[in-house]
Amino acid sequence: MICFNCKGNGFLRLRFESEQAIEQCQVCNSSGEVKDDEYYSQSWDDGLGSCSVYYGPPLEAEGDEGFKNYKIYPIKASDRF
Ligand SMILES: [Zn+2]
Repeated sequence: MICFNCKGNGFLRLRFESEQAIEQCQVCNSSGEVKDDEYYSQSWDDGLGSCSVYYGPPLEAEGDEGFKNYKIYPIKASDRF
């Protein structure tokens, strides 16, 4: 599945005023893809003013109106058992 965080690029373009920086994507470890069977912390605005939080396999949030401000977070080493 394409990594939502970097849109499959493997990196993020960050802009600080006039400077541009490249940051490697930590969600997919620069691979551009997330694994369907890995668990990720995710959050989004459900449109009713509350924030939904979900921990599980990556959701199909691209282009879905129900997932406003959708974010997927890197797997932290501490989350692994
Ligand atoms: Zn990524």
